[in-house]
Amino acid sequence: MPRVAALCWRLRGTGRTVKKRLTRRDRCGRTGGGMMDEEEERIGGMICSHLADAGPVDPDSLDACPECVALGDTWVHLRECQTCGHIGCCDSSKNKHATAHYEATGHPLIRSFEPGESWWWCYEDEVVFEVEGVPPERPA
Ligand SMILES: [Zn+2]
Ligand SMILES: [Zn+2]
Ligand SMILES: [Zn+2]
Repeated sequence: MPRVAALCWRLRGTGRTVKKRLTRRDRCGRTGGGMMDEEEERIGGMICSHLADAGPVDPDSLDACPECVALGDTWVHLRECQTCGHIGCCDSSKNKHATAHYEATGHPLIRSFEPGESWWWCYEDEVVFEVEGVPPERPA
C-alpha cells in the first residue's frame, strides 16, 4: 500500500493521528534561533485538507537546491514539495526557493528535507504538523 494511502486512512479513520507541533508561524522549524513551541496538542479532524491529496513524489535532488546550484548560491535548509518533488531552499536562505515554488505553482504542501526531520508545512493552511507513522523523508 502506498505510504500516502495509509496516511489518509490514519487521518480519516481516527481523526487523532495528526499532532500539531508548532502553534506559532515558523516555516523554518528549529532554525529560527529560539526553541520550538513543544506543545503537542492532539487535535481531531483535518488540519490540512491538502494532505489527503499528497502522493509519493520523486525529489528533484537528494542533497541540494538545484536552483541555488544553478545560480552559484548557497542555501540553509531544504524543503520538498509534496505535489511534484521540487526541492527548494527554506526562508532562512537567500533565495527562498521553496516559497517561490509555492507562489509560482500553488503547490501548498512541503516537508522538511533535512535528515531526521519529519515535519510538514502547508502554505495555504499555515500549519506545521507531523503525521504519526510517517518517517522523515531522509534518515538522520
Ligand atoms: Zn493544507
Ligand atoms: Zn535555493
Ligand atoms: Zn511542486
